[in-house]
Amino acid sequence: MSALATPSPRPPEDRCPGALRAHQAADGLLVRVRLPGGQLRPAQLRVLADLARDESDGALELTSRGNLQLRRLADDAAVRRVADRVAEVGLLPTATHERVRNLLASPLSGRDRAGRLDVRPLVRDLDAALRGAADLASLSGRFLFALDDGRHDVAALGADLCWIGGSQTLWLAGTDTGLRAGPDDVVELLIAAARAFLRVRGERRDLWRLADLPDGPARVTAALGRPTSPVTAPPGTSGGTSAALASAGAAPPGTSGAAPAPVVGARPDGVLVAGVRLGRLTADQAHLLADLAGRDEIIITPWRSLVLDTGGPDIVGRLATAGLLVDPASPWLGVTACTGRPGCASALADVRGDVTEALADAGPTGGAALPVHVVGCERRCGRPAGPVVLAVATGTGYRIEAGGTSRPGTPAAALAVRAERQK
Ligand code: SF4
Repeated sequence: MSALATPSPRPPEDRCPGALRAHQAADGLLVRVRLPGGQLRPAQLRVLADLARDESDGALELTSRGNLQLRRLADDAAVRRVADRVAEVGLLPTATHERVRNLLASPLSGRDRAGRLDVRPLVRDLDAALRGAADLASLSGRFLFALDDGRHDVAALGADLCWIGGSQTLWLAGTDTGLRAGPDDVVELLIAAARAFLRVRGERRDLWRLADLPDGPARVTAALGRPTSPVTAPPGTSGGTSAALASAGAAPPGTSGAAPAPVVGARPDGVLVAGVRLGRLTADQAHLLADLAGRDEIIITPWRSLVLDTGGPDIVGRLATAGLLVDPASPWLGVTACTGRPGCASALADVRGDVTEALADAGPTGGAALPVHVVGCERRCGRPAGPVVLAVATGTGYRIEAGGTSRPGTPAAALAVRAERQK
């Protein structure tokens, strides 16, 4: 029996929500608005803020893919009203492909000199090509594209297909199989690679991601039938990835050196990065950000922060007063939590409430602290890649896991472990 014929316990279709297909959470309906490259105009953010206030629980949730979601919608009529408004402001350009527009891009691309090129035009081109490819509507809502401008930030976030500017490398599920493309050809290559994935997957619609395919990177590369360049380690192994990264001076995905989030605060280049507590942006905060951004684009990052092309101490002060994170030493930075109670029926605790309580007494971190992730059950949804201090609800408290150790504790104890490891 071939590996592809192995039965899967998964349903054939993934259940990722979209703007048109809501997820029934324990506390109401949840919808997700895809933002390729995290790109958003201030006027669009204002509309989303109003929808959060009028139809949702008053906040926009920032996701780890740079998208936004609204939860606790009352009923199907509310979902339709939200979708209609989202479409009116240009955030729902397709009904058929809306859940497959999962596209990360380096959030500071074109704004500083750390990247090798500005990938923002490529984001728009790739999104348009994806929407124009009727067959790619059958990708799962979990399939992820990434355009990294050469600084190796989004390259570390586990995309199925990731192009790295500068080295012109295409990674398949984190592996360099020798495929190369320049900026002029990368969109065509990404579309072809996604099609090759669908061909290799065949009827197995329960194989949602490239890593779900046994030997996926090598088989998809073979199905593409294109010339490849030599890699310095055998294709399909982590060595291929490590070699590609080493040649670019970066750390492999999932290691402590990977996925550098943009530092919050005002930068000398006039860019401002603001973090969002536990990824929940209130309607008032969203309106403030839209007002301060003026007519410029806003970027939602995969690290639960926003990028604005405007800085200055007065603006930083206003954002801090509004509860946004602009101090790199804030104890809130790097702290994430799953949905927990009441939104998730499996949750054993109100994890966000518990960690918020713990953070109220936490002191500054000194910056660049280990991530802390708090979850409501053993499924550990949203666990960040790489080293992390984990607090897992057990029903009678929490268990703290860090550096291979495990002991009973609380979210406050998880923050203390982080502080201890930073000394
Ligand atoms: S980790 Fe458990 S409680 Fe948290 S969102 Fe996932 S299933 Fe729900």
